[in-house]
Amino acid sequence: MSLLQVKNLVVEFPHRRGTLRALDDVSFDIAPGEILGVVGESGAGKSITGAAIIGLLEPPGRIASGQILLEGERIDHLGPEQMRRIRGKRIGAIFQDPLTSLNPLYTIGQQLVETIRTHLPLSEKQAQERAVSLLRDTGIPAPEQRVDHFPHQFSGGMRQRVVIALALAAEPKLIVADEPTTALDVSIQAQIITLLKGVCKQHGAAVMLITHDMGVIAETCDRVAVLYAGRLAEIGPVHEVINHPAHPYTAGLMAAIPDITQDRERLNQIDGAMPRLNAIPPGCAFHPRCPQALELCKSDRPELLGAGATSAACWLHADKSVTSREPA
Ligand code: SF4
Repeated sequence: MSLLQVKNLVVEFPHRRGTLRALDDVSFDIAPGEILGVVGESGAGKSITGAAIIGLLEPPGRIASGQILLEGERIDHLGPEQMRRIRGKRIGAIFQDPLTSLNPLYTIGQQLVETIRTHLPLSEKQAQERAVSLLRDTGIPAPEQRVDHFPHQFSGGMRQRVVIALALAAEPKLIVADEPTTALDVSIQAQIITLLKGVCKQHGAAVMLITHDMGVIAETCDRVAVLYAGRLAEIGPVHEVINHPAHPYTAGLMAAIPDITQDRERLNQIDGAMPRLNAIPPGCAFHPRCPQALELCKSDRPELLGAGATSAACWLHADKSVTSREPA
C-alpha cells in the first residue's frame, strides 16, 4: 500500500478579484521508504503541495477539493490540533531555514526530548539517550556535549543536521523536506543531502524532497514529479525522467542543468516564463512556450498519460489520431 496518496488535489487562494488556483488536480503517491523529488520553477506549486500535506497552508489558502491519505487514512480535512499531532509523530518536516524549526530559548536537547516524549512512550532518561543517538546519526560531533547547546551555538549546516534529527525524533514514516539546503553554504549542501538520504533510509522514513535543483533530484531520488503552473507535468523513475523526458517542459528543465549523465541528449532551453496564477492559459498551461505544441493543446488540457516508463500530461503521448494532428 502507498504510504502517502495525493488524489486530485486542488488548492485555492481566494482573492479580491477571484480565486487563484495554486494547485490544480495534482495526484501522486509515495511508497514506504521511497524518496520522491518534487521539482519545478518558483511558483510551480512545490511548496504548496508540501504545505498542504503537512497541514500548514498559509491562510487564506485552502484545499478546495481532492484528498490526501496517509497510510490509507484521510488527513486533508483534519483540524489544526489533529494535524499538529500527525506532524510531530507521523510526518516530519524540514524547511529551508533551520531557525524556523528551532526555538532559540531552549537547548537542542530540550527540544529533542520534548518532541520525543510527546510522541513516544519513553522516560526522560530514555528520551535523552535517543536525542544523543539521533544527533550522532546526523553527524553532530561530540553529541553528548552538543545536546546541551543552544541553536545559535551551531553553524547553519550543523543546525540543519539538528533539524533533521528533530524531524526524525518520533520515528515518522514520512519526511517532507522543502528546499532543505537552499539557505546553506554551497560547500555543505551535498553533505546535508547525502545525510538526509542516508539517515532517512536508516530510520525507514520515506522522503518528499521539494527542490528547484535537478542535480539534487538526480543524486537523491527514486522518482521525481515535475510541476508546472500548479499542475503535474510528468512523474516517473528519476533516471527515466532525466534521460528520456516525456514532457517538453521536463526536457527544457533538463537542458537547463549541467550535463549530469553521458547519454542524455542535449535539448534546447525553453524560452519564456511560467504564467502567473491569474493568467494560466487554457488547454495545456505550457502551450505558449512549447516547441511541439499542437492545435489541440491550446484548448484541451491533457490528462496524465502513460509515456514509456513515465507518465506525462502531454498530448504527444495520446493515441496516434491525436499526435498526428497539425502543429500549431
Ligand atoms: Fe506541448 Fe501540447 Fe504537450 Fe503541452 S500538451 S507539452 S503544449 S505538446
